[in-house]
Formats: sequence, structure tokens, C-alpha cells
Amino acid sequence: MSNTYPIDLRSDTVTRPTQAMREAMMAAEVGDDVWGDDPTVQALEKRVAEMAGMEAALLMPTGTQSNLVGLMSHCGRGEEYIVGQGYHTYKYEAGGAAVLGGIQPQPVPVQPDGTMSLEDVRAVIKPDNIHFARTRVLSLENTMGGKVMPEAYLAEARQLVDEYGLILHIDGARLFNAAVALDVPLRQLTHCADSVSLCFSKGLGAPVGSVLVGAADFIERARRWRKMAGGGMRQAGILAAAMDYALDHHVARLAEDHRRAAALAEGLSDLPFVKSVSSATNMVFAQLEPGTGPRLEASMAQQNIVIDGLDTLRLVTHLDVDDNDIDQAITALRTFR
Ligand SMILES: *Cc1c(COP(=O)(O)O)cnc(C)c1O
Repeated sequence: MSNTYPIDLRSDTVTRPTQAMREAMMAAEVGDDVWGDDPTVQALEKRVAEMAGMEAALLMPTGTQSNLVGLMSHCGRGEEYIVGQGYHTYKYEAGGAAVLGGIQPQPVPVQPDGTMSLEDVRAVIKPDNIHFARTRVLSLENTMGGKVMPEAYLAEARQLVDEYGLILHIDGARLFNAAVALDVPLRQLTHCADSVSLCFSKGLGAPVGSVLVGAADFIERARRWRKMAGGGMRQAGILAAAMDYALDHHVARLAEDHRRAAALAEGLSDLPFVKSVSSATNMVFAQLEPGTGPRLEASMAQQNIVIDGLDTLRLVTHLDVDDNDIDQAITALRTFR
């Protein structure tokens, strides 16, 4: 199936559901989930809550809505969340928490390892004072640019949050990648948090879907916000079946994506137009000589390989890229002049 499509290295969001996943979707038992009647959705929520070691879970249409609803279920108007300057929940969600939630983001710089310095975080936590928004949430992102947050960092973040009576949210769009990379159960990376958002439409290969996990009362509030945001879906078991299939078949194989990203980085490492290259889990970042990106994009496109030709090149491995595709991509990169 995939050989009729180009080799697309722009993102792990580009995966198409496999035939077997489509068959699982077709066979799904469904009902109206807004009425609480969809058994496939309910089973998936129960399964993901258990995997995450949380009381409850909620199926969401997208990761963006999942983070938004998570923040809105934690914070009221005039409250704030502390977040990394380059994190998705600050930079890539169109300002949703501020626009729709009246929640102020307090960004802090992101360190080279993808974390925020907890000293920086501590410095922006606001005391109770009528001049200030109320600091409520610390929002992490794991993985961040493919980088896995160290477990010791998560524990320190939890300590800090407890010290100030704050809430810890994790944007875990790629938390399964982190769990596979560390070879630990998912709950080992979620237990520090009050809430976690997990994406199924990236490396896991489902067409649509995220899951928000947390305490039962939090999920009840989130269910109302999800309805208000227009995310209450009816026969959503069709989607939940794809996500359930992904949990059975597409988690352990993330290790292959990680191995392939390392191979891609290796293939790029000694090229004259590459200033530096690094890889982490399923992502490769290469700093190219200025002006190279667009020419490289055009050259790769002629060989049926899709990249986003920026001078900071990001290549992402995923379910629809196999070893042969990686070999082809490396050859194309190495013959580029
Ligand atoms: C993709 C992504 C999301 C959610 O994106 P959607 O496209 O709305 O599903 C959230 N956080 C991170 C880090 C992401 O990469």
C-alpha cells in the first residue's frame, strides 16, 4: 500500500491507517458516546486510564483540544500556567488557553534537553497578590523535540509543584515514545502528573484521537468543557477501535522508529552541507548551511521523498517508513549537491 505514496519524513502525523486497523474500525461496536452509550469508547477509556495509573480517561478528537480542555479543567479565568517557550501548549495551539479559557500562559525558556530549568520555573511562580494572575499549573512536554524528559526531572518537578500547591499537566503527545525508549511502563512516566494528554494520531498511527487522563473529578469537568468546545462525538467507537488496535500493535514497534531515526542521523552526520545533526527517539534535527533547505526539499521531492526544507531540518520516522525507505532517503541525502 505504502509504495504508491511518497516517503514522507515531515511528521509522524502523516501515517495512514493500515488495512488491519481499518478492519478493526469497521468491526467496532458503537453507540452515542455523548449519551454514554458507546462500549468501544468506554473500553478504550478504561484501558488507557489503567495504563496511565489514573482514575479516569476521556477520548478527545485532537491533542490540541485535549490540552485546552485539560488546562480549562484545572484553571479558571485570570489564572495561569507555566510552560516552555517552545512547547506545544504555548506556541502551537493558537493561544487557545488564553483566547478560550481566559488563562494566561507564563512562558519560560526551554533548555537544550527539552526541559525548563526548575529555577526559572520557581522564579515565575507568583505570590498571592491582587496584581498577579494566580499561578495554577506547570505544563511539561514529554517527549519534547523527540527528547525524553529524565525521570529524575519529573520527580523534581512534582516536588516543586507540591511545594507550591500547584498542578502538574503533561502534554504527552509522544509519551509512548518516551516509555518505549526508556523501556518502562507508561504509568511510570504519568504517576508524577495530575493530568496527561496522549496522542494516538502520531507514532501510534490512528487516523484521529487523543486521550486525556487524570482523577475522576477532573475528567468529569473535562467532559463538560469537551462538550462546550464541540468535541462531544457520537459513534466515536469507530475511532476508539483504531486507537485500541494501535495499543495492541503499534506501541512496541516505536523502537523501530527510534532505530531508524538514529540511522538517518548517522547518514547525515558527515555531509558537507550539514553543520550539526542530532536524533532523539523518532526525530532527527539537522542544522543545514544557510539556504540549503529549499534546494534539498526540491531535490528530495524529485526522488519521491517529502521533507520540509527549512535550514533547521526536522526528519521524523513513523509507521509508514520502513528500512528500505530510510536507505533510499539516506542515498538521496548523500548524493545531494
Ligand atoms: C501534535 C502535538 C499535539 C497535538 O496536536 P493535534 O494535531 O491537535 O493532535 C500536542 N502536543 C505536541 C507536543 C504535539 O506534537
